[in-house]
Amino acid sequence: DQNIMPVPVAFSDLEEKICTPDQLRPKPDNSALVFGKYFTDHMLEVSWDSKQGWAKPVISPLHNLQLHPGAKVLHYAIELFEGMKAYRGEDGCLRLFRPDRNMARMLSTAKRSSLPTFDAEEMIKCIKRLIQIDKEWVPYSTTSSLYIRPTFIATDPSLGVASPNEALLYVLLCPVGPYFTSGFKPISLMADPQYVRSWPGGCGAMKMGANYAPTIYIQKQSELLGHQQVLWLYGADHQLTEVGTMNIFLFMLNKNGERELVTPPLDGLILPGVTRLSLLELAREWKEFRVVERTITMAEVIQAHEEKRLLEIFGAGTACVVCPVSSISYQGREYNIPRSEPSLSQRFLKTMSDIHYGRVQHPWAVDI
Ligand code: PMP
Repeated sequence: DQNIMPVPVAFSDLEEKICTPDQLRPKPDNSALVFGKYFTDHMLEVSWDSKQGWAKPVISPLHNLQLHPGAKVLHYAIELFEGMKAYRGEDGCLRLFRPDRNMARMLSTAKRSSLPTFDAEEMIKCIKRLIQIDKEWVPYSTTSSLYIRPTFIATDPSLGVASPNEALLYVLLCPVGPYFTSGFKPISLMADPQYVRSWPGGCGAMKMGANYAPTIYIQKQSELLGHQQVLWLYGADHQLTEVGTMNIFLFMLNKNGERELVTPPLDGLILPGVTRLSLLELAREWKEFRVVERTITMAEVIQAHEEKRLLEIFGAGTACVVCPVSSISYQGREYNIPRSEPSLSQRFLKTMSDIHYGRVQHPWAVDI
């Protein structure tokens, strides 16, 4: 049986077990949408084993998993996930935002996690079908959306630190509210070089659960000190890498007085964000200012701050699109970050929202 070719995930094999009317759960009020707390009625599952490849994808009522207590995910954290959104447009159509990018990142994380790969297009078709089935859960609002959480775990009951022979890929859906409940609120950051999120040769560019668990304690430290998020630094020169679970952008005047949008490069230390990529592509299309992917250090930020060359700093990610930074606490000092008028982050938010909610037609918005 070593000769059996593993089969790919196939949308045409999808099996659907739909909830009976009494299994359908009430939908929360739009105002009560705490992130990740409410799940829709159905989930998608596809199991895999090394001999037979992928089994039939199945959509069924949301249920608990049954795992052997020796399952590899529970011991060596062989787990990865994705985060993307579906939006209900002003025209009533449901759309995904660049799902191909999330699937490509999921495949790169799967490879690094010793988990099997799959056909991304077939997976997107299965996810679209899941959303169609639970379409009434997509909020009727242009500030809310449906968060999609593809998850992939190693399930084989064997304690060897070795590549898994059994795995389960599943997808959950959560209606989520606006990230900024009371307007577009800037956040304060703690930048403490004693904490490091990722390092060269490590897995910082991967969306593995194991990258997130150790950050929670440090996030808590920043909150105890009165800040909202962590600005992750790396190296002896205190390079800026990411902010919380967002990529970071600086809009500034360079030493020649030219306007420049700067973000750290994809050097393996940061997650390749879909929002990051999209903002870079928009800015390059606008051709109004320089757009640069390069390493940026705290010394450079402080110098630009002192010379009044900083225009704006913001985080970028699926959860909030953009999130302005109001201050950075670093080595005992608090640096207040200005906000340029007109604000670039506001403009990015407007441009992205117009695409998400179908106010403009754009190839990044994919009909469901
Ligand atoms: N960095 C980290 C560490 C993240 O978890 C995320 C969220 N996926 C991002 C950046 C932003 O990525 P995206 O724009 O794809 O949501």
